[in-house]
Amino acid sequence: MSTFLGLIKEIPGISVDRFDGENLTSSIFFLSHCHSDHMHGLSDTFFEYVDENKKCLYCSPISKILLESRFKFKSSCVKEIHIDTPNVIEYTIENEVKILISVTSVSAGHCPGSVMFLFERNNISVLYTGDFRINPTDFPKLKTLHYCNGSKLIPKIFTKIYLDTTFLSTDFPVFPTRQESIFKMYEVIRDWITKDPRNVVILECSATYGSEFLFVELSKMLNVKIHVRNDVFEDYCCIAQLSCYVTNDPNSTPIHACKRKISLSGLHCRSDVSNINILTVIPSAMKWRKKDTSIIGEWDKDKEKTFNVCYSTHSSLDELKTFIQYFEALEIYPCVMKAEQEKEIYFLLNTIKNKPNKQLTINQEYKLELPRCEVLNKVKFKSEYFSSDDDSL
Ligand SMILES: [Zn+2]
Ligand SMILES: [Zn+2]
Repeated sequence: MSTFLGLIKEIPGISVDRFDGENLTSSIFFLSHCHSDHMHGLSDTFFEYVDENKKCLYCSPISKILLESRFKFKSSCVKEIHIDTPNVIEYTIENEVKILISVTSVSAGHCPGSVMFLFERNNISVLYTGDFRINPTDFPKLKTLHYCNGSKLIPKIFTKIYLDTTFLSTDFPVFPTRQESIFKMYEVIRDWITKDPRNVVILECSATYGSEFLFVELSKMLNVKIHVRNDVFEDYCCIAQLSCYVTNDPNSTPIHACKRKISLSGLHCRSDVSNINILTVIPSAMKWRKKDTSIIGEWDKDKEKTFNVCYSTHSSLDELKTFIQYFEALEIYPCVMKAEQEKEIYFLLNTIKNKPNKQLTINQEYKLELPRCEVLNKVKFKSEYFSSDDDSL
């Protein structure tokens, strides 16, 4: 859950992923993806305010579609920005001061339409990751985040990274790749639905949105569509990459991701299915806190016919380490931090940056956001955490 308050300190007049309170004084707004913890303050009234004050919000084309299904606004209030294409934006802040910035969006691999933002102004460059999970082997594919020197790609050095620190914790050192998790689910589901034609599977996903990559891949592998709720189906129908893998007809498929509340038991969209024919599959990262994630999935010890799979749309600790070692930053701001996590997050950021490595040269100060934290050493890193698969969506 994002705890970031919206204002990017280094660049005046912009707000990202928060649209209430002080953020309303901003001239330009950015939305990284359509998850509710990144949408505080968005409402029909907010868009009226944006329109009346000739302000605007930038997001990916898919996020714009999802916003259109939830809010009323004039199309001119929400501008699409496309991946890896720099946008030069000029706006004014108080006292009519003109500001010129360049903004480029970068794939975040978290959910459909999710992006990171690279903001550049004069010699300041700020990377806001939003929620993200990019396989480290794909880092060199993030063109916007590299300089090109002949045939060599050199990772950029940022003034500051606003980082998704959801799993920056020793409780979540390693996650299986999404491909590995999906394959595990596929095997269990395939075995169950081929055993008896009456058998069905409930996919118990914790949030309404965010499991779309999973739906698409499972649907392709099993050659059946996934049943989702009507409201979700309407949203997915607007997204070409998703629409052919989901259905709103409960009788047409044995795979159901249609549950409104996880606490409710049974399959509510079908009265013809008895409980003995239901298998529940739970993809989750939180449930795997301090557990051995190398096993990828296991049967639940307490609940009958329930299979838990480790599945994450946020980076693990090792993936985050690799990211902030690969891309240098003078400062890192943790965007997900409950009070009780604060100590550990700063300790880990310290440790990562201070990690002894012969190839590292310490040449500049690396500092964290809070003044009470000790000043750290900025170092150049070589990745030690590359793995080998493609998690992109
Ligand atoms: Zn999210
Ligand atoms: Zn259903």
